[in-house]
Amino acid sequence: TVVVAGSANMDLVGLAPSLPRPGETVLGDDFVMMPGGKGSNQAIAAALAGAATTFLGAIGSDAFGVSLNARLAASGVSVDLVRTSYGSSGVAVIMVDRAGENSILVSPGANRTFTDLTGPETAAIAAADVLLCQQEIPMPTVLAALRAGRAAGTRTILNAAPVRDLPPGLLDEVDLLVVNETEARGITGRAEPDVQSLLELVPRVVLTLGGGGSRFADRDGTDVHVPAFVVDVADTTAAGDAFTGALAVAWGEGRDLPDAVRWANAAGAACVRRVGASSALPERAAIEALYQE
Ligand code: ADP
Repeated sequence: TVVVAGSANMDLVGLAPSLPRPGETVLGDDFVMMPGGKGSNQAIAAALAGAATTFLGAIGSDAFGVSLNARLAASGVSVDLVRTSYGSSGVAVIMVDRAGENSILVSPGANRTFTDLTGPETAAIAAADVLLCQQEIPMPTVLAALRAGRAAGTRTILNAAPVRDLPPGLLDEVDLLVVNETEARGITGRAEPDVQSLLELVPRVVLTLGGGGSRFADRDGTDVHVPAFVVDVADTTAAGDAFTGALAVAWGEGRDLPDAVRWANAAGAACVRRVGASSALPERAAIEALYQE
């Protein structure tokens, strides 16, 4: 099983001819609302990729919380341990103009109340094959979850997104770090994403390279580039979430990491073929079809 401890947000996306300037009101085009947040997206990605998946997180007592929960459950994610806290759910207010330029306001809402782990949450992490965390919930909770996983022999994966200051000792609890180039630069402070300096901090690293695929390296001297699958790109939103969720599933199934990364590349490629964010996350059959090519 895979346990994801992370964020859930409702994404409110308004399209407009131009982005409103401070003090300005703009009459917009279409509006869409969809579940988002890296935690929720990666939990859905893992469930669709075929793993028994539990989401640990906090939603608000508002209507968004109800639909976030329903969407997770409908994707096959266990929501038994999801907390409901009084007040607003996490919300991302996203404005996109006709040139594709955007302005985004993320209001963490209930995600901010996920400040510790309960006994049942700790037990779920301990019983899992793989724990997957991101950085959109309070960092002390990320640290506590990774520690609980490490202590129980659960494989721990940190997708270090978005870039934040890391509490001391956090990376010591990570078995596998997943970063894109921006996040790699953020952690190492180097101008070029440098896998060898990341390996001084964690035993295994996956660096995602967008249409360039990904790179896997570990402390035993493995350092391989795993090429992307060539597909027609419709929308790259959520490719990283599709990739990371599928990687957790594949590693939990016992594949060796270079093969798990190839399988995750197939998930990322299957995702970019479709328009949308969480709605573009691929099912196992779509991942397998590309992987077999
Ligand atoms: P993020 O969105 O987190 O920056 P990336 O853009 O690196 O993540 O994408 C994650 C993974 O999705 C890549 O490693 C790759 O396997 C796959 N992917 C992303 N963009 C493409 C693309 N244009 N063609 C094929 N695969 C892609």
